[in-house]
Amino acid sequence: MTSSTSPSQGEIVIDIANVWKIFGTNADAALQAIHEKGLSKKQIHETYNAVVGVADVTLDIRKGEIFCIMGLSGSGKSTLVRHINRLLEPTAGKIMVDGIDAMALSPGELQEFRNRKIGMVFQNFALLPHRSVLDNVAMPLEIRGINKNERLRIGKKVLAMVELDAWGNKFAHELSGGMQQRVGLARALAADPDVLLMDEPFSALDPLIRRQLQDEFIKLSAVMKKTTVFITHDLDEAVRIGDRIAIMRDGRVVQIGTAEDIVMHPADDYVAEFVAGISRLKVVRARAVMQPLEAYEKEFGPLPNDAQRADADENLSTLIKLAINHDAPIVIAENGKSVGVVTRREILTTVIEGTETS
Ligand code: ADP
Ligand code: MG
Repeated sequence: MTSSTSPSQGEIVIDIANVWKIFGTNADAALQAIHEKGLSKKQIHETYNAVVGVADVTLDIRKGEIFCIMGLSGSGKSTLVRHINRLLEPTAGKIMVDGIDAMALSPGELQEFRNRKIGMVFQNFALLPHRSVLDNVAMPLEIRGINKNERLRIGKKVLAMVELDAWGNKFAHELSGGMQQRVGLARALAADPDVLLMDEPFSALDPLIRRQLQDEFIKLSAVMKKTTVFITHDLDEAVRIGDRIAIMRDGRVVQIGTAEDIVMHPADDYVAEFVAGISRLKVVRARAVMQPLEAYEKEFGPLPNDAQRADADENLSTLIKLAINHDAPIVIAENGKSVGVVTRREILTTVIEGTETS
């Protein structure tokens, strides 16, 4: 397989540039009309009988990060992610994975790329019901022609990672939904891919089980450090899991940022409406709410001797606990240096803004 990571790309693993996907036999004409006349998704459907799945998406995903793609059903999340392992080909644009142009792969290279480089986890588990759990997990290795002993050894190892070591000999259909999804994840991990694509993996599960799997996944990710593209229609889930989040609407990416960026500075009314329901307590950090030291001193005079201290990375929840127990302002430090002040005013303002829709 051709692999050339140029140093300038450094940490970027997935590089998506100006990708369009239009479904239908008139896709090229439709795209031209969008460029020339700025037709909307609805107009394209009416005039060209074509569906805009992904519209001019550009984004970079970095090594080891969990990148969430969030949006309502039909916003283009699955269509976008399927370009990364070339289950779909773009109408226009470029997809690079680890310096490899996905569109330039020969059929043989593509097979290898999918088997080794990229693991995929689906919403509906896609397990073979009448195979044992262990055989399901070892399937990607079987496809690669790895011998049975080695397959089973690796299969057992990844099953242990998802805490299902005792279930290897059961049939897949004997397991609960949450367990089947863990088997799906183990199967994707068995090939030890560089990149994990997860398309709404937890969406079909009950809220409690879902929460539990999110927690397990967060822990496992911290150990594996695999570059992960995680799709969800649930912003709460994206905020819990994602290092960065891209929000999609009608095929377009309308905002990319950390949970804090998105919650504190939604790009438009559409995103603002989504974030209105998100608790800021764990998401927003001292850095984003503090006032500059000088501004505080100008208004209130020198800092009192009993001022409290907190790091700029501490979240709102921690600041609230400090402010409950003590009247003094909180001095915020970045790399040991005092940079700002948080008083009850900043805390209460941030909390109330988070509960009101604009
Ligand atoms: P999401 O995963 O965010 O729910 P999808 O990527 O599945 O959204 O779909 C994006 C848009 O593309 C939708 O309008 C959908 O109807 C359309 N679409 C997806 N796959 C196809 C296809 N194979 N043929 C035609 N339209 C499609
Ligand atoms: Mg989808």
